[in-house]
Amino acid sequence: MIAFILAGGEGTRLKEITPGNLPKPMVPIAGKPILQYQIEFLAKNNVHEVIISVGYGAKAIKSYFGDGTKFGLAIKYSEEPEPLGTAGAFKYAEKLFRDARDILVLYGDIIFDIDLPRLINSHNSCNRLGTLLVHPNDHPDDSDLLEVDSANKIIKLIPKPHPVDQVFQNLVNAGIYVLKPEITSLMEGGQKLDFGKDVFPALVDDGKNLHAYRSSEYVKDVGSPQRYQEVEKDILKGKVYRRNLANKQRAVFLDRDGVINKEVNYLYKPEQLELIDGSAEAVKKLNDSDYLAIVVTNQSVVARGLCSEKDVAQVHKKLGVVLGERGAFLDGIYYCPHHPDRGFEEENKEYKIECQCRKPKTGMLLQAQHDFNIDMKNSFIIGDTTADIMTGIHADVKTILVKTGHAGKDGKFDCRPDFIFENLKEAVHFIIEDDEKL
Ligand SMILES: [Mg+2]
Ligand SMILES: [Zn+2]
Repeated sequence: MIAFILAGGEGTRLKEITPGNLPKPMVPIAGKPILQYQIEFLAKNNVHEVIISVGYGAKAIKSYFGDGTKFGLAIKYSEEPEPLGTAGAFKYAEKLFRDARDILVLYGDIIFDIDLPRLINSHNSCNRLGTLLVHPNDHPDDSDLLEVDSANKIIKLIPKPHPVDQVFQNLVNAGIYVLKPEITSLMEGGQKLDFGKDVFPALVDDGKNLHAYRSSEYVKDVGSPQRYQEVEKDILKGKVYRRNLANKQRAVFLDRDGVINKEVNYLYKPEQLELIDGSAEAVKKLNDSDYLAIVVTNQSVVARGLCSEKDVAQVHKKLGVVLGERGAFLDGIYYCPHHPDRGFEEENKEYKIECQCRKPKTGMLLQAQHDFNIDMKNSFIIGDTTADIMTGIHADVKTILVKTGHAGKDGKFDCRPDFIFENLKEAVHFIIEDDEKL
C-alpha cells in the first residue's frame, strides 16, 4: 500500500491564527504540523511509501520532511504546476503509483486516527474501485452528502446546497479514501478536477463500484479557526486516539420511540416523527463525549404489514435531519423489522419470525458490539419499556429507564433498571457527569 497526501492547500481561513505564510498542512497543532501526525500515523501502520502532492508552500513541506528517512518511511513529492484540485493532483501524480495495488488517499488538512487494517479489510471484501471513509457530522445541512444502499454501495452524491424537498442520510465524505490506481484511467488529465464534485459523481452515475466505509472514528478537518481550537483540545484530551476502533469503545444504546421521539404507537411515516424536548441536546452531549450514540429499535411495523423497510429508512433519514438541525447525530441505527406472532390478515409473512434481534433479545447490541468494538460492561442502554431494560440485563450493559413514552408501564417483563430518570436529557447528564468524575 502506498499513501498519497493532498498537501497543496493554502489554508486561507487559518491565516489569522498561523504564523507567516505556512501552507495549511504545516500549521502546527498541539505542538507539531498537521502533516506530521499523518506521516507518523503511516509509519506506525507500516505504510512505508508516501507521495505528497505539493503546490502552495512546497518548499516548506519538502525541507521539513525531506525524503522521509527521519520519520521511518520514504517520501516522494509531486509538485503540481498550478492548483489542479484534489483529483487533478492525483491524476497528475499517477506515474508515481501506477504499480501499487491500492492507494490510501489522505486530505492534508485532517487530524485523524483510524484502525487502518479494518478499513483495508472492508475495501478488499468485494471488488471495489474505491472505498470512501464516511461519517455523520454535526452540520449535515452545510456538507456534501452521499447516499448508500443497504450494502453501503454509494448510489448518489449530493453536493450542497441540497434540494429542499427531500431528506438525506447524514453521511459525509471524511477525506480518506482507498483507491485502485486504475481509477485514474477514468479521469481526464490536464484539467482541474475535484474528487467529490467531479470524479465520484461521474463514476457513481456510471455504475462503478464505489463503497462507503462508515466509521465512528475521529476524523476532522482543521479548516477554520474554530475547528482548529476544537481539534487541538481533542488531541490534548486523547479523544482522537481513543476513538480509534482498535480500542474498546463505550456506547449508549438508545431506544427510539418514547425516548428520542414521541411514542405514537406504530410510527412508520416521517411526518409522525416528533422529538421529545431536550433529546437532540442529549444526543449532542453524547457526541461530544467519549460515548457512541447508537439506536436499537424494534420496528415490528414492517412485520405487521404497515410499511416496508424502505419506509423505516425514510423515517431514519428524517430522524437524522431533525437531529442534524440541532448539531446532533447517531453513530449507528439498528432496527428489528420482525415479530413472532403469526396469523394476522395484513401481516408480512416473511418478517413474522422468531428472530435474534427483537428486544429483549440482544442481536442488535451484539451486532453493534462487533461493528464498533464496544466494551459492554462500561456501556448503557436507555429505554422506556421493560423490554429495553431486559435487553440491557441480557447484554450486560447498565440499564436506565426514562419516564417518557411508556415510562416502564408496559408490564411485559419483570425487571428492575439500574437507574430511573425523567427523560433522555437527564439520563445523559447523569452518564456524562459520572464520567467526568472518573
Ligand atoms: Mg420505546
Ligand atoms: Zn428481528
